[in-house]
Amino acid sequence: AQLANQIAAGEVVERPASVVKELVENSLDSGASQIDIEIDKGGHKRICIRDNGGGIEKDQLALALSRHATSKISSLDDLEHIHSLGFRGEALASISSVARLTLTSKPKSQQQAWQAHAQGRDMEVQLNPVAHPDGTCVEVIDLFFNTPARRKFLRAEKTEFNHIDEIIRRISLSRFDVSFSLKHNGKLLRKYPALTQQTDHLKRLGAICNKDFANTAIALDSHYQDMTLSGWIAPPDVAHQQSDVQYFYVNGRMMRDKLINHAIRQAFEGVIHPDSSPNYVLYLNITHNEVDVNVHPAKHEVRFHQARLVHDFIFRAIADGIHQYFS
Ligand code: ADP
Ligand code: MG
Repeated sequence: AQLANQIAAGEVVERPASVVKELVENSLDSGASQIDIEIDKGGHKRICIRDNGGGIEKDQLALALSRHATSKISSLDDLEHIHSLGFRGEALASISSVARLTLTSKPKSQQQAWQAHAQGRDMEVQLNPVAHPDGTCVEVIDLFFNTPARRKFLRAEKTEFNHIDEIIRRISLSRFDVSFSLKHNGKLLRKYPALTQQTDHLKRLGAICNKDFANTAIALDSHYQDMTLSGWIAPPDVAHQQSDVQYFYVNGRMMRDKLINHAIRQAFEGVIHPDSSPNYVLYLNITHNEVDVNVHPAKHEVRFHQARLVHDFIFRAIADGIHQYFS
């Protein structure tokens, strides 16, 4: 079991930042409104994610650590309309095969919190009662301690932390209603409080991107058939002076996709210098059965059933936004 998990881990767990991504997504899937992340030494020493979500019942803890155990889909049909971020049931099993992982959880309905960790070659799960508030805490210690080949690929502490920081930025821009904090080596470096008012969203945008982007951003809100594109683009005259701000979300997941990039570039054509990159934080929402996110485990790619239609909608929405700004 451990070997299979370690092989799977190769796909899911590339570096500390990918562990953080999987764990924070689990917290979001659990309905958490607050997620606190602690990192030690760029994450290879320790990653700890605590949430106030729904938790895991005692008798589900061992299952959560086993491969292909997901509470999120029950049939192949469900793959057609995935609303949760995770669905493969591989993350916890993979991570616990390449690190020392403890999973601590207390659902509201339970008096006692329980802690689970898998040990040995058979990944036998031990359960202990512990003190813990409602929610879940996942602690990952000594990442890649048993896979020297992977450990060798770890970069400097600072580099790994920067990757983690970027993951948290991405995720924070997808959920303004959730509060996030990030500590590195005991120091609180990021705090993004939950924002309930849409008009406050620019605050987080300013904290995460840069002040200029937030101050000069043009808001978009376009609809066509069952598609919505909202968010912000930066006016071209500022865009080329700032570090890139390029975030595109499809149904709440951040994507990097050729089709999307092409549509954006095309919309900015003629208004920005050909060597500079457009800046944007955009959210595309589309009916779930029009899009296939099950393309790659890293889930950065997306396949639209009506690619041309989506492309032209994105292009038009941005081009209109740019046009309105200049008229
Ligand atoms: P997936 O997210 O694909 O379902 P994971 O391996 O990431 O698979 O998680 C396995 C299961 O453990 C989830 O389906 C969920 O039931 C449970 N789980 C993991 N993390 C949390 C959490 N933070 N809060 C509540 N449940 C969790
Ligand atoms: Mg998951």
